[in-house]
Amino acid sequence: MPASDFRDHIATADEEGRRKWIYPRQVDGRFYRWRTWFSWLLLLIMFGGPFVTINGNPLLLMNIPARKFAVLGQIFWPQDMIIFAVSILLFFTGVIIFTAAFGRLWCGWACPQTVMMEMVFRKIEYLIEGDAHRQRALTAAPWNAEKLGKRLGKHAVFFALSFLVGNVLLSYIIGWRDLWQIIIDPPAQHLTGLTFMILFSLLFYGIFARFREQACTFICPYGRFQSALLDENSIVVAYDHKRGEKRGPLRGGLKAEARRAEGWGDCVACNQCVAVCPTGIDIRNGTQMECVHCTACMDACDNVMDKVGRPRGLVRYASLNGIERGEPLRFTPRLKGYLVVLCVLATVLALMIFTRADVEATLLRAPGSLFQKMPDGRYSNLYTVRLVNKTSHDLPVELKLESPAGSLAVMGQGGTVAVAQKLMQNSILVELDSTAMQPGTTPVVIGVYSNGKRLQTLKTAFVGPRN
Ligand code: SF4
Ligand code: SF4
Repeated sequence: MPASDFRDHIATADEEGRRKWIYPRQVDGRFYRWRTWFSWLLLLIMFGGPFVTINGNPLLLMNIPARKFAVLGQIFWPQDMIIFAVSILLFFTGVIIFTAAFGRLWCGWACPQTVMMEMVFRKIEYLIEGDAHRQRALTAAPWNAEKLGKRLGKHAVFFALSFLVGNVLLSYIIGWRDLWQIIIDPPAQHLTGLTFMILFSLLFYGIFARFREQACTFICPYGRFQSALLDENSIVVAYDHKRGEKRGPLRGGLKAEARRAEGWGDCVACNQCVAVCPTGIDIRNGTQMECVHCTACMDACDNVMDKVGRPRGLVRYASLNGIERGEPLRFTPRLKGYLVVLCVLATVLALMIFTRADVEATLLRAPGSLFQKMPDGRYSNLYTVRLVNKTSHDLPVELKLESPAGSLAVMGQGGTVAVAQKLMQNSILVELDSTAMQPGTTPVVIGVYSNGKRLQTLKTAFVGPRN
């Protein structure tokens, strides 16, 4: 693709829009080795996470059907929606700051998609089908026993791994114990769970076996809005055009100084940086939406520079200002502003989490109920109380009518203990003497107590006759 129209076309499609399959060459180098070690750590966390508990609660749980969420062992309920909203704001502010300063470092080093694709599935592909040129040859070859064996073997391993990844995702949603029940119980008992197990497996198989870099280019919004977040001080994977241009192939025996004197830069136009790129782009064209900052081109170019006796880093982590003016990373006013917002949000979130009530109660008038006049002349209203115990232990709970004078009775069974991490719902009957009532509605205050300590005060209206 000519350099002039690279921003109008993506590298993975031809003029008719048909997919161009990328065969990235296997790379070796210091960044690849560091990323490999880091990915092992991340994979350990990713696959081990569902089995880790803190104070008996999961490390991470996103049980949307049961509306139960856990982060770092803290259980969150739908009633904690404000904490959730602040967490989301904090997350996005963090992403903005991080991207403004360090570009897409996350994508290349820690994104589960890149880690699984480049460090697991791609390596298996190299192992079974060989490096890029062998893969190309295998694709072009007629179907024979070797091709059939390799392709079947590869896709069988891919599907098995996708099944594993799908189950890990499922265990972050429903917990590994529920997942285990789905596995050991008769299939008819868990049709929904089994359906999701198959769907997730097929989804990951589709992504890692076929869709691949298209997920980063078309689906992931992060890559799309990075152009709005980056500025000339952001650190990105960049080609040093000042040092590299004018690019041109090595001519026999010409030393670097002589090359420079003839107007040539350090880039020897070997295209190795393009050959290793899993998104098929040429980093020498500048920062591009498709680039996932996987560092492969940095390693490839460093290897070339070693061979031609030039310093490493022609393709490196650098900012535009760093390349053009030699400026180091600057803490810009924009970054400072983001950081202040981040600190404020983090403080608000910490306060909300640490002052969060152990038990949260909500009180509603029982739907469709009217006030009742009792034989002794008093009036009664029926309410529904919902109690969420957010702790990991059962709590005795008592409801007291604080004002006005009257009585409160908990109806139904098991109304005095809020079971750990459960939502309890019960009916309560409030009776007021007519002398304590106002015409129409009377404000009522109810205290929620546990072990003699008031946890919450509930306010509601008591409906009575208008006169
Ligand atoms: S690998 Fe380095 S020297 Fe080779 S084309 Fe890319 S930037 Fe130029
Ligand atoms: S341009 Fe370099 S860092 Fe970006 S995706 Fe391609 S190989 Fe990875």
